[in-house]
Amino acid sequence: MPTFFSHPAVPLALAAGLGRRAVPGRLLAAGIAASVVPDLDVIGFRFGIPYGDPFGHRGATHSIAFALVLGAIAAIFATRLRTRRAIAFAFVAFCGASHGLLDSLTNGGSGIALLWPFSDERWFAPWRPIEVSPLSITRFMSGRGLEVLASELAWVWLPAAIVAALLYLLRRTSTWPDRS
Ligand SMILES: [Zn+2]
Repeated sequence: MPTFFSHPAVPLALAAGLGRRAVPGRLLAAGIAASVVPDLDVIGFRFGIPYGDPFGHRGATHSIAFALVLGAIAAIFATRLRTRRAIAFAFVAFCGASHGLLDSLTNGGSGIALLWPFSDERWFAPWRPIEVSPLSITRFMSGRGLEVLASELAWVWLPAAIVAALLYLLRRTSTWPDRS
């Protein structure tokens, strides 16, 4: 995975770019949750679920289908998220799916079960610039961590900031209905 705190770059960039009226605070919070929740599957290691299992790390919870389920749950609670159902669904599903897609850009670990439950195949992107983060905190702190953070700044946060800036400019210069 990119580290736990880099996945929220996606919802944060979208929220910054699209503005508060399009992405209210609660919807943003739901998007952040959706962007990190797939990695809860590491709990499986404790129960002896092997890495390659459909329910192992980077398995079912990293699939597009799982992201769509998260989106559907968000749609149910759309009023609480202060938005419309379609927007809640699209935003949260996109943030959830971004997790597996970002993971597939990392240069280590196992591939991602993007197409689960239709296929257990583990996928990697053809180009994988992101330094994979060690799963253990101690190994992360032991020097590899800085390398990982530098790579995430370059390949996750910088592109996210560029997307946010482009969306912002588009919003300011177009007839976007809800300027905020
Ligand atoms: Zn992950």
